Amino acid sequence: MKPIPYGRQTITDSDKEAVLSVLGGDFLTQGPTVDEFEAAMAQYLGASHAVAVTNGTAALHLAALALGVKPGDRVLVTPNTFVASANCIRYCGADVEFVDIDAKTYCLDLDQLEKKLAASKSGTYRGIVAVDFAGYPLDFERLRNIADQHGLWIIEDSCHALGAEFLDSKQQWRKAGSGRFADIAVFSFHPVKHIACGEGGLAVTAKSDLNDRLRSLRTHGITRDPKLMHEAHGGWYMEMQSLGFNYRISDILCALGLSQMKRMDENLRRRREIAQVYRDELAGTPLVLPNAEADSRARHAYHLYVVMCGNQNNQRKQLYDFLRANDVYAQVHYLPVYRHPYYQELYGKQSFAACDNYYSRCLSLPMYHGLEHASQEYVIETIKRFFKK
Ligand SMILES: *Cc1c(COP(=O)(O)O)cnc(C)c1O
Repeated sequence: MKPIPYGRQTITDSDKEAVLSVLGGDFLTQGPTVDEFEAAMAQYLGASHAVAVTNGTAALHLAALALGVKPGDRVLVTPNTFVASANCIRYCGADVEFVDIDAKTYCLDLDQLEKKLAASKSGTYRGIVAVDFAGYPLDFERLRNIADQHGLWIIEDSCHALGAEFLDSKQQWRKAGSGRFADIAVFSFHPVKHIACGEGGLAVTAKSDLNDRLRSLRTHGITRDPKLMHEAHGGWYMEMQSLGFNYRISDILCALGLSQMKRMDENLRRRREIAQVYRDELAGTPLVLPNAEADSRARHAYHLYVVMCGNQNNQRKQLYDFLRANDVYAQVHYLPVYRHPYYQELYGKQSFAACDNYYSRCLSLPMYHGLEHASQEYVIETIKRFFKK
């Protein structure tokens, strides 16, 4: 039997044709397909500006640079995330301070964040990096209010949450990562995410000055825009105005992304269907299932389907090993960022009760739009067998 991974892409014939048509055209990079992909993403998200880059990590790095993160700054970060959410702050030489997660949503605990900020001197922190973990849309409207009280910027790492929505205080559904409440939101198009470019990322913002900075930093900090130039020498002239990078995405990858976007709603529906089947069929097991459905103001995007095992007898590892022996490749998301050796060497051994408890028990079951019904039934049946042993 073919192993069942926790996540993977689907590629159709029309995806392949879209890529081939760019390969036969004039622009492999810096061409019109990049603009088209950005415009389609901005429209889907209800966002003002979307800047496509090489990957989600590059988008996070550019976001931190555009917000002016520098040595000496202190930034509050959720520890339950992929390391890149914290690393982007370190790339700029600034320091990361972790705040524990909410035991129900596994996202940054906004109550604890509020308490920490209330207890600290004004000006201690510069900003916040929060994640829509697993695809659960964190209440960024509330986070915006907290941040505004303390003059902080917000980066929303929405890499898990393409298509997730939350109900704002005006009773309107808002897409996660729309840039409406965060200063900059970030997506990834790695193949395990909702849509695949192979490698790809996006930075989203409502602010035109941040949009200008993101675009300039994406391509070496060089501008050809006459209204931004210090001097004018002729048609060839361009200026490097800040120390940027080459984080450009290619037209080839954007063609794949655009083609994948056509199935986005269908894929999201499929992910929610898979979650419903897990919920119905695993209800009788000792596993604690995601409870976002009970939350009437959140529409989960299910990048991951995380269940919690019991804390006795190392149950998580036993279930992981049992599934693996039966060709089901579940995964653990994530080792808390502060427990990676790099961060331990930097900041010492740290512990956060909810995040440590979460890590000791969490397991991500297979969740991707191409997961076949029979494969999911096999996963469920294998889990049930484990608990019957
Ligand atoms: C995938 C991911 C990233 C990094 O994206 P890449 O495209 O792999 O660089 C950052 N943050 C989170 C939460 C992610 O899941």
